[in-house]
Amino acid sequence: MISRPDEVASPTVRPRLLVAARVVPAPGEPAIAPGAVLVDGPTIAAVGPPDALAAARPDAERVDLAGATLVPGLVNVHVHLAFEPERDPVTPPPERPTPDLAAAVARNALRLLDEGVTTARDLGDRDGVVAAWRASGAPGPRVLTSRTPLTSPGGHCWFLGGEVRGDVRDAVRHRADQGADWIKVMAGGGMLTPSSPRPWESQFDDAALAALLAAAREVGLPVAAHAHGTATMAACARAGVDTIEHGGWLAGPGPSPGAAPATDPRPEVADAIAASGAVLVPTRARGWRTWPPEADRDGLLARLAWNASRGIRMVVGTDAGAGPGVFDDVVDTLTLYRAAGFPDAAVLAMATTEAAAVLGLADRIGRLAPGYAADVLAVDGDPTRDVEALRRLRLVVAAGRAHLPRA
Ligand SMILES: [Zn+2]
Repeated sequence: MISRPDEVASPTVRPRLLVAARVVPAPGEPAIAPGAVLVDGPTIAAVGPPDALAAARPDAERVDLAGATLVPGLVNVHVHLAFEPERDPVTPPPERPTPDLAAAVARNALRLLDEGVTTARDLGDRDGVVAAWRASGAPGPRVLTSRTPLTSPGGHCWFLGGEVRGDVRDAVRHRADQGADWIKVMAGGGMLTPSSPRPWESQFDDAALAALLAAAREVGLPVAAHAHGTATMAACARAGVDTIEHGGWLAGPGPSPGAAPATDPRPEVADAIAASGAVLVPTRARGWRTWPPEADRDGLLARLAWNASRGIRMVVGTDAGAGPGVFDDVVDTLTLYRAAGFPDAAVLAMATTEAAAVLGLADRIGRLAPGYAADVLAVDGDPTRDVEALRRLRLVVAAGRAHLPRA
């Protein structure tokens, strides 16, 4: 379902041996120093000491990356490639012509590569522009798409065209027929749609969510649920969704206009989420270092740490394209988790191995190993000790294709 033209090996391209100071096969695993990765077409053929790999494959073209660390390409599990809030502050204007959205997808796909993201999950576009981009074989990361999110009539992001006016099961089957990789449901209200329920309110009752999940399981698709509110998060855990997006534990309006909404992180809901296996994708991060006091940064950091302490799995998604999310902030999001007390290697895992598992791709991406996709970053420094090193990308290889990030 995610095959791309560039994943077909070309016999005319010589294998390349990427040689670096160290190779981190996966965050938390011992590094190979010095190390090398042999890239053959779209796939990794071998990982190991440079001399041994060079001797085994003398035909390989050697690429010297002195001083660099090789790590797996990053995975961003929540993006909106079709939207560009920095170009269009009113996000996303429903009247924007489809060709504009398609052009944005192509631009943003390259921006993801620039920041080392070699796999992304798009959780909402319009008119199938992401799927069309993918089918074109244009350069960019591997992308999974939910197409247009399902929402209630007049609900969050209704203007994208995903209002469910009949049987929710038919809406799910329609997305499956369109080739969606995930079902995205706006289980709660959102910030971007003033007319919709408030962010802490739910848009679907338990019966509707259960029917949606049953239909998704029938067509073999996982479900991502937009849920800001504690009550909505609880409903998502009861329904058995696969990922809860945002998950901010919101409970009501803030104490004053402009202040962050009130939060209510409930232990019993956290335990239900952990027990259900649903993975949380907190997306609120951009520019967190310079937030004003009323934005409640300390509260956010405390809740992220608390989520983990209750056993909730979390992976990295930035909501790039929607609201305040932009396409050059993935490291900003990683540093937020570090500020919340997560070790650097654990943070890197949330954007590689852990995220790959959430996407059902644990046997193909998120790790440097033979048979895995050749998604490789060469970084100055060691991101398992300092994730900020990911700002110093020297080379991005995506499915075997080399991409030099723009400075
Ligand atoms: Zn989103």
